[in-house]
Amino acid sequence: MQALAVFPSKKNLQLIDLPHPKLQDATDVLLRVHEVGLCGTDREISSFEYGSPPSGSDHLILGHESLAEIIEVGREVSSFKPGDLVVAMVRRPCPHAECRACRGGRPDFCVTGDFTERGIKGADGFLTEYVVEDQEYLVRVPRVLADVAVLVEPLSVITKAADQARSIFDRLPYDPGLQRGLVLGAGPIGLLCAMALVAEGFEAVVYSRDSEEGKPAELVRSLGADYVSSTRTPIESLAERSGRFDVVLEAVGFAPLMLAATQVLKPNGVLALTGVPPEAATAEVNAGRALRNLVLRNEVIFGTVNAGRRDYLSAIQHLEQFMILFPESVRKLITDRVPLDEVPQLLAHKRGIKSVVEMSRAA
Ligand SMILES: [Zn+2]
Ligand SMILES: [Zn+2]
Repeated sequence: MQALAVFPSKKNLQLIDLPHPKLQDATDVLLRVHEVGLCGTDREISSFEYGSPPSGSDHLILGHESLAEIIEVGREVSSFKPGDLVVAMVRRPCPHAECRACRGGRPDFCVTGDFTERGIKGADGFLTEYVVEDQEYLVRVPRVLADVAVLVEPLSVITKAADQARSIFDRLPYDPGLQRGLVLGAGPIGLLCAMALVAEGFEAVVYSRDSEEGKPAELVRSLGADYVSSTRTPIESLAERSGRFDVVLEAVGFAPLMLAATQVLKPNGVLALTGVPPEAATAEVNAGRALRNLVLRNEVIFGTVNAGRRDYLSAIQHLEQFMILFPESVRKLITDRVPLDEVPQLLAHKRGIKSVVEMSRAA
């Protein structure tokens, strides 16, 4: 069977032939991969900036945003059966006894850094026809979501951020009556976040460098949210134009914007950062003003990565809700469906909002 692998030492990305995988443990299941979503992480890995092969291997199979069908189950698998549609979680726990996060089933909070991530760090991904996976790392998806369920993994990043933000707001000694949310970035994560805010009844604004006439802007307005382009309104003037926000979610990874974003928070507001800027990125900030504001307005800035099982389950619930509220807008997030052999080209030249690789058709 075919797979797409990066060879970091040879700086090479190529299709390879692999033997058909077989069940090893009693709790394993065999998956036929239906679709794999591509994102900026895959682009970074395929340009050899990031990512690492499993130990002892010279290559890493790409792909972490999966949708698959169960073909065969091990003898101790009780929660899944052949024919079930599933999404696989990305991160796997580290082996260390002292890591309470991993031992408690939340490797997304791993404290040792020795976790693995399928398709990213030390474990092969899903850009292949068949995969063997332990049942523990799978989440079942309703069949009615089949054509959009590949969005569950990126959406789980948002549902985790929302869950964390909620617990931060819970510290307030009064009901904050949250109303206004700002999203920085109009990529798939930003647009999914706008959907989540609208679905929760928030007044939502998306701020990005794309023009106010482009596809992402159109999609944002179709949700009933507002779109503001950074080419017309610098972040310093955004509060004047659009008011201040209870919560800001950043999904750009542009360091100067990440640091400037507190300027648009309401007092007691929360800024969630999900973008990953390049390590060498620098930004000029007025540290005195930024830190004064943070203290004098009880603001919280937090980073969030990856997601736990409850966030995946929440993502599935949200996606079901989105498909009732604005199904066409959700479908429009997936702008390309391509076969495996077109992936190298697509990773080199990004197009559309979310590109999805079709590995096999749903039965
Ligand atoms: Zn991704
Ligand atoms: Zn750990």
